Amino acid sequence: MNNIQQIKEKLEVEQKILLEELRGKGTLNTVTNEWEAMPEKMDTEPDANVLADKFEDFDEREAITETLSARLHDIESALKKIQDGTFGNCETCGKSIEEDRLNANPSARTCKEHMNN
Ligand SMILES: [Zn+2]
Repeated sequence: MNNIQQIKEKLEVEQKILLEELRGKGTLNTVTNEWEAMPEKMDTEPDANVLADKFEDFDEREAITETLSARLHDIESALKKIQDGTFGNCETCGKSIEEDRLNANPSARTCKEHMNN
């Protein structure tokens, strides 16, 4: 793999963007190391409609936080593999992941054959 440095830079850029987005929507639980959606501040007593809206917002934010944090985990694991020298190997069969697949998705964990596992 000759473009590993390029892939690493790409991953680090994406990691930074994800972290920024997560900081706007959630907080990092330092015990579990998982991102959690920020709960609503209830400083006044809202009526039922306002409350329903707030819960909807929270659900949405929770879904986004979950998606972003899953992506972040993939990226961090890919960066760790670069460090360990195991980057680019399929987690299922251990063979090299196709280069075009890695170019499209640098944090891919498996080769094309095992991408749906
Ligand atoms: Zn495989």
